[in-house]
Amino acid sequence: MDRIKTAALSCNRDPENIRLVAVSKTVPTDRVREAINAGVTTLGENYMQEAREKFNALSSYNVSWHFIGHLQTNKAKYAVRLFDLIHTVDSLKLALELNKQSKKINKIQQILIQINIGKESSKSGVYKQDALKLTKEISGLENLAVKGLMTMPPFFDNPEKVRPYFSALRNLRDHIKEEAVENVSMEELSMGMTGDFEVAIEEGATLVRIGTAIFGKRN
Ligand SMILES: *Cc1c(COP(=O)(O)O)cnc(C)c1O
Repeated sequence: MDRIKTAALSCNRDPENIRLVAVSKTVPTDRVREAINAGVTTLGENYMQEAREKFNALSSYNVSWHFIGHLQTNKAKYAVRLFDLIHTVDSLKLALELNKQSKKINKIQQILIQINIGKESSKSGVYKQDALKLTKEISGLENLAVKGLMTMPPFFDNPEKVRPYFSALRNLRDHIKEEAVENVSMEELSMGMTGDFEVAIEEGATLVRIGTAIFGKRN
């Protein structure tokens, strides 16, 4: 958390505008509890079953749960019950199902649109050029609220090589923001992980998803 603050101040950003999502996938509940006691307020989970178990075990804590994994349509009903923010909406089909399930429980579900910024076949997300169209389609769904964009850029050892992908996501966000789509807010940029979050903050990240730097290496 100190590193987030330092990175923010170094580029004249208010650290208050950057939220740490502690990525707790595969981390045992006891260690997640320790992290909460140490000050973590937002948890990121990738797998629905695992998330449901932890959610139940830690239900007495006031933390915000974010879904950051690939979401299958048939898991949408669990997702809307558990998560305050779903980072990984990348199709109208999934959005329609999330909308339907949110309506059932009277919820306005906050979501981000996942962008496949490097056009990698191994990654989820819509391509940049399809983002505005999907955003406009989702804007008409009354139980969903689009809050911004998320991406998983290509992997490089050198975080400087990731910078152009982060700035591309920010430019895309600015472009969609200019369109002023009704019912859509484009404030959030979910980007940056353990190896590159400082660069992501310099490029405008508002949500950084950090696992290894908090919980250590995963198996
Ligand atoms: C696992 C994961 C992270 C965290 O990665 P670290 O390198 O451990 O910080 C961030 N985002 C997503 C989508 C992940 O799946």
